[in-house]
Amino acid sequence: NLSDKLDKAFHILKGHGKITEVNVAETLKEVRRALLDADVNFKIAKDFTTKVKEKAIGQNVLTTLQPGQLLVKLVKDELTELMGGDVAGVNLSGNPTVILMSGLQGSGKTTFSGKLANYLQTKKGKKPLLVACDIYRPAAIQQLYVVGDSIAVEVYSEPENKNPVEIAQNAIKHAKANGFNVVIVDTAGRLAVDEAMMTEISNVHKAIQPHETLFVVDSMTGQDAVNTAKAFNDRLNFDGVILTKLDGDTRGGAAISIKSVVNKPIKFVGTGEKMEAIDVFYPDRMAERILGMGDVVSLVERAQEQFDEEEARKIQKKIAKNEFGFDDFLSQIQQVKKMGNMKDLVGMIPGASKAMKDVEIEDDAFKHIEAIIHSMTPKERSKPALIDVKRKARIAKGSGTKIEQVNQLMKQFDQMSKMMKMMQGPGGKNMMKMMGN
Ligand code: GDP
Ligand code: MG
Repeated sequence: NLSDKLDKAFHILKGHGKITEVNVAETLKEVRRALLDADVNFKIAKDFTTKVKEKAIGQNVLTTLQPGQLLVKLVKDELTELMGGDVAGVNLSGNPTVILMSGLQGSGKTTFSGKLANYLQTKKGKKPLLVACDIYRPAAIQQLYVVGDSIAVEVYSEPENKNPVEIAQNAIKHAKANGFNVVIVDTAGRLAVDEAMMTEISNVHKAIQPHETLFVVDSMTGQDAVNTAKAFNDRLNFDGVILTKLDGDTRGGAAISIKSVVNKPIKFVGTGEKMEAIDVFYPDRMAERILGMGDVVSLVERAQEQFDEEEARKIQKKIAKNEFGFDDFLSQIQQVKKMGNMKDLVGMIPGASKAMKDVEIEDDAFKHIEAIIHSMTPKERSKPALIDVKRKARIAKGSGTKIEQVNQLMKQFDQMSKMMKMMQGPGGKNMMKMMGN
């Protein structure tokens, strides 16, 4: 993938204490090849490397102390610029704010409609309404209801009405009458761009005049994503792009090309199937990610958002009083799980995705641990010392695990409790510092 290719390109630089004009050119050639491999449009890739080269010469890269690092920075800055430079928010004007989703079938419109509704409800204090305008498949309406249910957002649909324009208009009336301040209109897509779909979405667009028209695109479709974006933009003049499925074997190329071809910002990215797998698109972080530096800032932010402070305080108290038990351990696991699936998280740690490439990560890595804890009695959970060999055998049987697994968990729990106690003790501050460094 792109990151690997760029790694290789930069490796050429790192191998030399001093770099020469020849290996700057050589490296940029590799960068260009990497971009092309990631389906970045040929002209964009060429312009990109030409620009970086000019800047490198302009800034006298070769005479600086660390030419390699400076070149990496130039490439990163230029990539950031190419993807839009600054963060672009959603326009939330209007009451209700009307948001229209567009894009091909399977791009992730319905999923993203739910993610956006959830984001606006939980992070922006909005009261969103989801609208089912995919009238071709009853399953599509049903899917939106499942999504709506999972995030406690109301869904508006008219299964008997086959006119998406009317449905969207009625939904806006319904929103006004019932105090919804955001209306998210999910539409039908086709497998490829065709006239019927374009006419339909343009008609909806004209009729409801959305404040925000978003184009949803599967980031794994590479160069096609750019063509599709262009076709939709020609008809809708959309306001922003949503790049989904960035959790897969990502081809960063779509993100790089789309902005330059349609000149519209990427606003959000989808990084998984869960409703929480949505991130604001930060061009600079994406550039770092593409360059294999890992999206550490996003990871830290997500961890902070999901971590319940009150829970943390409660746990601290328990540790201090020596009352930390398996129930608390379980709730810690649940906190970690809220952060998203393990694969997403690992992918965000610099270097980790490469190191873990060949390791199969179970989506639910905590399944066994949870089963074991669930098989313990409340007393055992609060006083783990009670768990003797006999009890261990019972717990293993009850949770469908092996006694070694129970032993392993007990050991992990023990280590964790000890470590947590240590961190709270007098030496704790130093230890935290050490870990931070
Ligand atoms: P629509 O036809 O445009 O409405 O697309 P859907 O929302 O139904 O999504 C199509 C498929 O892609 C579903 O199986 C979703 O679960 C999946 N999907 C959507 N967004 C993402 C994402 O960000 N990551 C992953 N891994 N899957 C996604
Ligand atoms: Mg759909």
